[in-house]
Amino acid sequence: MHLARFPRRTYTDARTPLHPLPRFSAALGGPEIWIKRDDRTGLAAGGNKTRKLEFLVADALAQGADLLITTGAPQSNHARLTLAAATVEGLRTRLLIEERVPGTYAEDAVGNALLFDLMDVDRIEVVPAGTDLAAGLEAMADAARAEGFTPYVVPGGGSTPLGSLGYVACAEETLQQAFEQGVAFDHVVAASGSGGTHAGLLAGLHGATANLPLTGVSVRADREAQEAKIHRLASETYALAGGAGEVPREAVVVRDDQVGPGYSLPTDAMAEAVRLLARTEAILADPVYTGKALAGLVAMVREGALRADQRVLFVHTGGSPALHAYPTQVRTG
Ligand SMILES: *Cc1c(COP(=O)(O)O)cnc(C)c1O
Repeated sequence: MHLARFPRRTYTDARTPLHPLPRFSAALGGPEIWIKRDDRTGLAAGGNKTRKLEFLVADALAQGADLLITTGAPQSNHARLTLAAATVEGLRTRLLIEERVPGTYAEDAVGNALLFDLMDVDRIEVVPAGTDLAAGLEAMADAARAEGFTPYVVPGGGSTPLGSLGYVACAEETLQQAFEQGVAFDHVVAASGSGGTHAGLLAGLHGATANLPLTGVSVRADREAQEAKIHRLASETYALAGGAGEVPREAVVVRDDQVGPGYSLPTDAMAEAVRLLARTEAILADPVYTGKALAGLVAMVREGALRADQRVLFVHTGGSPALHAYPTQVRTG
């Protein structure tokens, strides 16, 4: 894939680390588990949205935008990183916050919501779950234009084909690091939400003929709906990057056993996984995404789907600021 053809801003200085998790692996007694540290990308507190924003913000700047408008949940990492990217580019940001769990938006909240204030978000509009967010974003863009702004709308999670190129780049970067470190992986596990991460990784792995299975652990949707969404987005991303044909449907594998009662709502398996990673490796996962994704990996080890003679890669997508907004969900006892 020839990603240099796309305008891109650079928000991370170097490649994110790829390293083994010896104590976490030993505690599980299963495969050798490695981690790709996309919790250490650039922009405030890092995370997977930084990679997508490198392409999306370059596009916004090419269009002369002076305002970014996006949407997310009250503790959205994506909203925080969009605001961070806008800030370093000298742009303003407006947020459409979807209160996916009723009553969870609070102006004085900590975690990512505190960072919205700290980085001086221009405006926040809060709407209930089930609102037509695409229409809401367009209405905000119209209002901004009437005020004289040149707005650029970043869809939720930055999960357009253009944004997903960030994870095509991550797949290529990871395969190169694996080559240099002489480590061959048998399986990859990552969180699957708005889908740009999962879809971009699939497109990148397919484009590199890596033959490396990837399991996306859903944090919200059921398996069927998520697989259909990911297949569509992965194929569009692959085509945008110059690939011929589509990403094979059978390469799209989603587990939905870790969603629990719903998006951002805690599960025991999530809390156990977050604590185990912190206690064995001093690496912080988050309650909404990476904790559930890691719980999916743990479940696969316990089911025997990932065997002791295999090497597994967990893609850490960030999110640790949200830990501080959900302390009781992960605290011991
Ligand atoms: C957004 C997010 C995800 C999910 O990535 P998508 O590309 O939306 O599927 C995973 N982890 C964290 C920490 C996130 O903020």
